Amino acid sequence: MLRQYQELKQQHPGTLLFFRLGDFYELFYDDAVTGSRELEITLTARHKERGDPVPMCGVPHHAASGYIAKLVRKGYRVAVCEQTEEASKTKKLVRREVVRVITPGTAIDPQLIEASDSIYLAALCGTGSAYAVAFLELSTGDFRATESSGPEAWSRIRADIESFAPRELLFPESLSLLVRDSFGEPVHTAPLPMSEGDDLNNAEAQDVQARQLSRSTQTLTLTPVDDWAWREDDCAALLSKQFGTRHLAGHGLEDKHQAIRAAGACLNYARETQRAAVPHISDITYFEAQDSLVLDAVTLRNLEIVEGQSGGGRARSLLGIIDRTVTGMGARLLRSWVMRPSIDLIEIESRLNSVTDLSSQVKRDSLRDLLKGVADLERLVGRIHLGTATPRDLVALRGSLEQLPSIRQALADSKPTLLASLHENINELPDVRDLIARAICDEPAVNLSDGGVIRDGYNSELDELRSTSRNAKQSIASIEARERSRSGITSLRVRFNNVFGYFIEVSKGASSRVPDDYERRQTLTNAERYTTPELKDWERHVLGAEERIVELESSLFSELRSILAGETILLQTTARALATVDALAAIAETAVRRRYARPVMHNGDEIEIKDGRHPVIEALSNDPFVPNDLYMNNSTDRFLIITGPNMGGKSSLLRQTALIQILAQIGSFVPAKSARLPVLDRVWTRVGASDDLASGRSTFMVEMTETAAILHNATPRSLVLLDEIGRGTSTFDGLSIAWAVSEFLHDSPEHAAKTLFATHYHELTELAERLPGARNYQITAAEREGEVIFLHHLEPGRASKSYGIEVARLAGLPPAVLERAREVLERLERYELDVFAEDTLPVKDHRLDEEPQPSCSVQNAALRTAVRRAAVRQVASQVTLFDSVNQELLDEVRDVDVENLSADEAHAFLLNMRSRII
Ligand code: ADP
Repeated sequence: MLRQYQELKQQHPGTLLFFRLGDFYELFYDDAVTGSRELEITLTARHKERGDPVPMCGVPHHAASGYIAKLVRKGYRVAVCEQTEEASKTKKLVRREVVRVITPGTAIDPQLIEASDSIYLAALCGTGSAYAVAFLELSTGDFRATESSGPEAWSRIRADIESFAPRELLFPESLSLLVRDSFGEPVHTAPLPMSEGDDLNNAEAQDVQARQLSRSTQTLTLTPVDDWAWREDDCAALLSKQFGTRHLAGHGLEDKHQAIRAAGACLNYARETQRAAVPHISDITYFEAQDSLVLDAVTLRNLEIVEGQSGGGRARSLLGIIDRTVTGMGARLLRSWVMRPSIDLIEIESRLNSVTDLSSQVKRDSLRDLLKGVADLERLVGRIHLGTATPRDLVALRGSLEQLPSIRQALADSKPTLLASLHENINELPDVRDLIARAICDEPAVNLSDGGVIRDGYNSELDELRSTSRNAKQSIASIEARERSRSGITSLRVRFNNVFGYFIEVSKGASSRVPDDYERRQTLTNAERYTTPELKDWERHVLGAEERIVELESSLFSELRSILAGETILLQTTARALATVDALAAIAETAVRRRYARPVMHNGDEIEIKDGRHPVIEALSNDPFVPNDLYMNNSTDRFLIITGPNMGGKSSLLRQTALIQILAQIGSFVPAKSARLPVLDRVWTRVGASDDLASGRSTFMVEMTETAAILHNATPRSLVLLDEIGRGTSTFDGLSIAWAVSEFLHDSPEHAAKTLFATHYHELTELAERLPGARNYQITAAEREGEVIFLHHLEPGRASKSYGIEVARLAGLPPAVLERAREVLERLERYELDVFAEDTLPVKDHRLDEEPQPSCSVQNAALRTAVRRAAVRQVASQVTLFDSVNQELLDEVRDVDVENLSADEAHAFLLNMRSRII
């Protein structure tokens, strides 16, 4: 058996093999170690007595799906191996086969997937000059591919991968390095083979376990796939066969060599893991790379688009605030909209028109109410094809179809063209509805094998069998009364169990009185069990009929499923239309409830927001939100430098601007009194300093990597948010980099994106005087009785103070520390001003020499001054902190009126000084 295990294991590398053994699934060797750790179940061993114990652990088969779900969620691939023949006495070893492989990207079981999440499997391939990626949502059959060539090919394809956020990425071995470099180490590669005599406790094994544990926190599983699976000819043939077309040109794949390979490998993997044809994947959509507003992984995270940061979950994200969809498919569609907003002005306008129309409460309410009765048709169609649809799924389908006439009615005279076309696309499918109504009971059993699924009157043979079975049962029931009176035994009962079938049971005491024609079958402590020829006869009738009933019901059900499968296209179109109605109605609902305004979209370059608000903060905070105006264009107001107190609201303003733009491009109204907005191609962010500990990169490295990506790729149609760049290194470096980055973004014609730059470096405000497109803005704060009051108001100009100490006070620093900080600050400020007036570096201190010097390429005088200021501040702070007494002396020297000092007075002064120097 273990040899059989090893064979199967070899055929499925990189998976945890669930090996069916009677009523259990067992895991062996390394799989057992991993499984017991991840599932928190006991690790035991087989063959202990032989001296080379085989580690093993197991789960009961009826509870397996929960365990599998847990592993897949952690990024593992699970191969499920079943016994594929009945155990018999003659054969010792039953045949076993892997019937399914469940992976993070191909999971379809309802326990494994959230209704509102799309689970994408992605396949990436390329040659260095051209890359392609395909995305497949197996539960719904949504299948797409894109290809890109030229120097930017990789960064484009990478951005697309990030914006789809797949669960699993397939790639050919040849791209291993690139993929691992970009997306991290593979989450679960095949466990190291353990040779005989390996001790489980050896250090190496433990190390492997530890590494796997830490990797399992990642959400993207990287799956290398053998090179042969990517051969273009095979892939093209597979795709043509799948779609039933001769040429792939009709699917937009003509000459898309890489996209064909990616799509083919993706499809092949889906079929392999399911061990089934996947006919609901009936088409593929080719799209150009970046045909949406690109939000890369960093930006999605920083802007909290679908997930709040620091454990905020979905509720604290943009999607969490606007998602008022009532169906799983609507939720998934809306999620895809916010992750990939549109860049097509016509599409945006048509959605906005629909949302305006759905602002009418009556129409919106009735649509949303009706949609609540609609099941997840997209996934239901998938289950019908994969053969996993249950009788209850079909009842849900019928219930959904019953809502459609009213939904169409509610949409009937919609003016907006989008709503009108959705109305057209909703197909009522009355035949399907009636067929299900005729065939399936209203409340069928969960499992087909429990019987009673097919409605009476649907199939005459079934009706007859049922009546036979019923009659036979009645006859059996009548036997009981008759036999009681015949034998005079009142305790006599006719009973049934699975082992013996029907029998007559008589209590021990009465057994001597049973009639002669009774045959004894079984003796219990208190009773005897008998049968009679008549009873056996009826039993044959009942059991024969019931067996046939189960068979017939199951074949009728399969037949029904295949009829429904024939309606795939109409069902999918209808599902898609309903999802769109749901998403639009949800946006409209949010717009009305939160008093959003319809943005005016245009082809120009201006962003003009009046009284803009942050959608998430305004929804979740108890304090009133202070709205702000903002104006930008691509000439005079292209680079806004925003200063202001810590906690004043700089980051919030940056984010709110991007979120308003994103909302507008999904076709939503926006949180503002009014907004005129262009169509942007990408939002870039470099917000906050977060360590990417998982990948082992320092804050500064992360920051610079992200900044580099922005400088290479931003265009005049992009919006760039820079929040405190350059903080992760010394002041000199940081300021120099921030300055140079600003100049680059401002000056380079092809990368001159609209930029919002929030900074603590007040020195940078000088840029605004030098760069024609740059302007200074400040977030205001006021001081009242020594306390800072954040006004959160944006106005032109530069902030005069940071209020850092006031914020520190709010944070609870002890009063003594605060007072000392104020004292130091005062000195520093005085010192710095004096220094700056002379425009030289007065302090020649060895500590200054240790600081990294500003790069010699920095020629610019203004920058030199700014850097110097910061440097002086830094050096002065060290002097002050370490040697405050000397500092006082210096102050006294500075204040002394040398001109009017007599020689004696000067002498005395010097002596005094010398005695006090420490
Ligand atoms: P900064 O980036 O200047 O340090 P943040 O943008 O992080 O400040 O804002 C600090 C806090 O102030 C936020 O958590 C938010 O709750 C609040 N805040 C920001 N902007 C506003 C506003 N316009 N109205 C009300 N509260 C705001």
